Amino acid sequence: MHRLHILISMDPHTLAQGARSVKEALMKNISLANLTNEVKVVETGSLGIYNKGVVMVIFPDNVYYAGVKVEDVPEIVSEHLVKGRTVDRLKFTEIPVKEIAVEEKTPRIGKQMRIVLKNAGIIDPESIDEYIAHDGYEALGNALTHSKPEEVLNVVTESGMQGRGGAFFPTGVKWGFTAREDADEKYIICNADEGEPGTFKDRLILEGDPHAVIEGMTLAGYAVGATRGFIYIRGEYHMSIERVKRAIEQARQSGLLGENIFGSGYSFDLEVREGAGAYICGEETALIESIEGKRGEPRDKPPFPGSVGLWGKPTIVNNVETLATVPQIVLKGSDWYKSLGTESTPGTKVFTLVGNINNPGLIEVPLGITLREIIYDIGHGIPGGKELLLAQLGGTTGGILTSEHLDLPLDLENLRQVGAGLGSGALLVVDKSHNVVELVKNFVEFFNHESCGKCTLCREGTGRLLELLDKLGSGNGQPGDIELIEKLADTMMTGAFCGLGQAAPIPILGCLKYFRDEFQKMIPKETADAAVA
Ligand code: SF4
Repeated sequence: MHRLHILISMDPHTLAQGARSVKEALMKNISLANLTNEVKVVETGSLGIYNKGVVMVIFPDNVYYAGVKVEDVPEIVSEHLVKGRTVDRLKFTEIPVKEIAVEEKTPRIGKQMRIVLKNAGIIDPESIDEYIAHDGYEALGNALTHSKPEEVLNVVTESGMQGRGGAFFPTGVKWGFTAREDADEKYIICNADEGEPGTFKDRLILEGDPHAVIEGMTLAGYAVGATRGFIYIRGEYHMSIERVKRAIEQARQSGLLGENIFGSGYSFDLEVREGAGAYICGEETALIESIEGKRGEPRDKPPFPGSVGLWGKPTIVNNVETLATVPQIVLKGSDWYKSLGTESTPGTKVFTLVGNINNPGLIEVPLGITLREIIYDIGHGIPGGKELLLAQLGGTTGGILTSEHLDLPLDLENLRQVGAGLGSGALLVVDKSHNVVELVKNFVEFFNHESCGKCTLCREGTGRLLELLDKLGSGNGQPGDIELIEKLADTMMTGAFCGLGQAAPIPILGCLKYFRDEFQKMIPKETADAAVA
């Protein structure tokens, strides 16, 4: 039994800051101080803290250190580990650590509520034993030994959970379509191909708690009668791929994947498929095409994948966050889940909080929270005390909110009324020092680059939008350009073949709605006057 545990965050960000060297220095100094039997160093996934260098937390003291360098390690060992005195100069106080309560049914950190991230930064993601020690695989064990598949399906349906991939379609309803199909083979696919700028929450969920996703997929498989699953991970996510493959192997060795799981007669197995980095492969049918070895382009719908999916078989495609939530719902019940969030949108949402924000990072919040609470309480405000220009909720296709929405409780119902949505990934905060036309141009550049080219409206439309925005941005705009942008955007939203082309104009129209004057200002006065004359 160790007296102290040092949890050191090993995610791509902290690794780039030297987390591996700091860990090695810790091990060496702990050994020199003869503390190997008293202090255990554990690698964890992301603690959710960004831009603060190497981060670690010492339990049970609940002391966070940030910005730790190799040369700080001897002092941490001699002062904290040997003498029990905190090294104040390294202490990270921005997280109210006293409010962390991992043993509670619904853990919180300040205004965050951790359901999906309950284990991230707390357990060693490479240890199945640590996952099991935190109630891991309990939901699966209970379900397989005490519940029929339809009972698992009912719990998820009654919970009201909506898929966190961006569309917020009810998960139980989606599963129900596949459950009702009569087929010799059905599949579960985990969509881990997130690729929007600023969005990396699925990667950190996978890296921090890979077994939660595996357990969620197995429960989904049991509920609908699938026996095989695929985790489609973006090829650049090397650590995610490694950790998930290791976790699958551990689960197999422990009898939690493979034949006759828990002696229930139910068999399910998983494999990893690596994506090549095309954003469109996050669209479920393009993803299926990619797994089948074809070019990643969307299919016609209907038929929907729930009936005709991978290799023509009924297939469920859920994203990482959705599947990582499932074990919690099955374990704690639909009433518990419904008690979180709001009536229209139960549960929590994981975001990467990025942009002009003092405390960026990975956060999970109950729906119904306000933008003000996220930006100013969790994010600690905007650097330099600058004013908020806008917030983009849920990634590059997300809706635009402004300071007038700071106190709007964030859920689907309220957001729909202001023409926005929750989206999938990043919550981008932008201060007033930025030019909104340049910002919109950046969004469109991304879509233009990622358009798969299958349909004209998106392939050509994103290019023409970019030209028009370029023209405005360079001071060569003409009267009618803004209206042309709007017309083109409207046409793409109604006519593009898939969600990428349909959603690409959302931030443009959102910015035009709130900042039309800023676009208008980009048209030289003499040009505008000449047009009037
Ligand atoms: Fe491809 Fe864009 Fe058309 Fe979708 S909307 S099929 S991404 S060209």
